[in-house]
Amino acid sequence: MQIITTKSELTRQSAACLRQGKTIGFVPTMGALHEGHASLIRRACSENEVCFVSIFVNPTQFNNAEDLQKYPRTLEKDAQLLESLGVHFVFAPTPDEMYSAEEMAAPFVFDFKGLDEVMEGKMRPGHFNGVVQVVSRLFDLVRPTRAYFGEKDFQQLAIIQHMVERSSMAERFQDIKIIPCPIVREESGLALSSRNERLSDQEKATAVAISQTLFASLEWAKEEGATVADVQQRVIDTINAVDGLEVEYYEIVDQTTLQPTTVFANAIGCVTVYCGPVRLIDNIRYF
Ligand code: AMP
Repeated sequence: MQIITTKSELTRQSAACLRQGKTIGFVPTMGALHEGHASLIRRACSENEVCFVSIFVNPTQFNNAEDLQKYPRTLEKDAQLLESLGVHFVFAPTPDEMYSAEEMAAPFVFDFKGLDEVMEGKMRPGHFNGVVQVVSRLFDLVRPTRAYFGEKDFQQLAIIQHMVERSSMAERFQDIKIIPCPIVREESGLALSSRNERLSDQEKATAVAISQTLFASLEWAKEEGATVADVQQRVIDTINAVDGLEVEYYEIVDQTTLQPTTVFANAIGCVTVYCGPVRLIDNIRYF
């Protein structure tokens, strides 16, 4: 496994693979790797001849300086895991290698066709601009055959699919296939997240109520006369009733348009909850 820190070396290695006709699987991450990431990486390694993983805590997608500063960074441990998974190339650049001073200063602008106006996009202004900025740059450098994204970040996945399939960048990325991967959870049901590392044992036990409530809501949705609005409110009230948890939003939306829906068909519920100072996200499908 080779660890690459410069864009020039990354393009040199990926171009060499493509010249040899090899398929490239790519998994972009922000590091502090866990079994959720590993599930994407195992798949990328098994479905492609070469596997690239990036580890980059992208400053342009953080709209909270403290969140950026406290984001866990565990490169040495991550590298050991990636080696054991059979990854060929790890790209771990510095922010200066990725962006010019102008790019760091001026926000990147992308037309999301409304996909960014709800949920995470509404709560974290500029977040998805930063995500598209970094992912489009990484795609240009790696030129993957397949790129793997987790359904845990459901809105992010929808936006990347829009970028590759329907946006002004679609032609540029027409050779890249986006592969969605299911959420990996702890046995307790808690969705794995790098941010879980910031939770105490007590907070982790408390946070289990998030997924438990989402699972329970599948049953509530089947109750006679249940409406989307009722189920949505019941989820919010149930989680807020737990000491130490505070819902930022819970929205049941159409999984394609991400717009609020009144029917459970094709619906997905996306939640963001503060557990102490740590912001956790999760989602559940109703169809
Ligand atoms: P991150 O490092 O948080 O930016 O995540 C990198 C990729 O791993 C994204 O595509 C995430 O959606 C995915 N991912 C993170 N946590 C999980 C999880 N628990 N299950 C499945 N995929 C995940």
